Amino acid sequence: MSVMSATASVGTQSAENKAAENKAAENKIPATAPLLSIRGLEKHFSLSGDVLEQLKFKGGRVVREQKFVHAINGVDLDIQRGEALCVVGESGCGKSTVARVVMGLLNPTAGEIHYDGERIDQLGAKALLPWRQRMQMIFQNPYASLNPRMTIQQTLEEPIRLHHPTWDYRQVKDKVSEVMTSVGIAPDWGARFGHEFSGGQRQRIAIARALAVDPEFIVADEPISALDVSIQAQVLNLLMDAQQAHNLTYLFITHDLAVVEHFGTRVAVMYLGRVCEVAPTATLFAEPLHPYTRALMSAIPRLEDERPQHLRLEGEVPTPIHLPSGCVFHGRCPHAERRCREEIPRLIATDNGAMVACHGIEEGRIPL
Ligand code: SF4
Repeated sequence: MSVMSATASVGTQSAENKAAENKAAENKIPATAPLLSIRGLEKHFSLSGDVLEQLKFKGGRVVREQKFVHAINGVDLDIQRGEALCVVGESGCGKSTVARVVMGLLNPTAGEIHYDGERIDQLGAKALLPWRQRMQMIFQNPYASLNPRMTIQQTLEEPIRLHHPTWDYRQVKDKVSEVMTSVGIAPDWGARFGHEFSGGQRQRIAIARALAVDPEFIVADEPISALDVSIQAQVLNLLMDAQQAHNLTYLFITHDLAVVEHFGTRVAVMYLGRVCEVAPTATLFAEPLHPYTRALMSAIPRLEDERPQHLRLEGEVPTPIHLPSGCVFHGRCPHAERRCREEIPRLIATDNGAMVACHGIEEGRIPL
């Protein structure tokens, strides 16, 4: 970057910082407030159907029985501007449900979501529209996320026309060309349909659709896991380039620790609908604290491996229908004690800059 452009950039940034401070002062929130704040989030899915289906005949009388899948069970997370927060965990831990609730695709059972200081979890579709422009989502499956009846040009024009109804034909067309070029798809391919592209190209188009409305925050739900291994790195690099170019903030859902290490500035580890550890990426990989995080990390094969042997977890993952009491990990944790079975551990700050939810760490029973 030249000195002149660097100076201009600094000038723009300071103007933006000033604007952010003024806005924060107006809203009575500190200037350093997170872009997204999740508090006490819960999401339960009913398995019992309607009221009639819930009625059962037991012991000579009719009783009402309801069963729920407890997908998210009290998640607290903050996402700062400009960071890429990776949420990692095995299948069924609730990470994709967090992404969908944040985007308003699912209503939370309990808890609050604040975006840029404003509560957004109770907003209806119309009230949510201005936020939708600022928050975009990239889905896992590029084969399902593009409408097969629309050309790529139509697919990309749709969100632009929705969020910029006053733009004329030329402005919309120029924006479509700009975003297609930015993701490495030639603009003159706009007349083609989704099925004419490979999986990697489709995911590039899905990224272009998200970028078309100039968002500041992107929720990416396993965006490369459905792609061939050979093109996963290209799409990941494209997402990283987009972050630099557009100053994006990411909530990145993945089960792949190699992706986390490459992409994330911070990591949140989830187990059975709860966050067990949050830490800067380098810290988590160097010094995992929570027993579950340690087991996850020990499973990564490394050439220069000097770490302890793979920690093998005993027992089955409990079902989210019958959630364990206390710490949800207690049935598989070698350090579990009575308090673990009775009391839900809260996230507490540790000396290495992480937050960990574990009685054993808090009590000093587990060596660091
Ligand atoms: Fe293990 Fe107890 Fe810590 Fe849960 S709270 S991870 S059971 S030591």
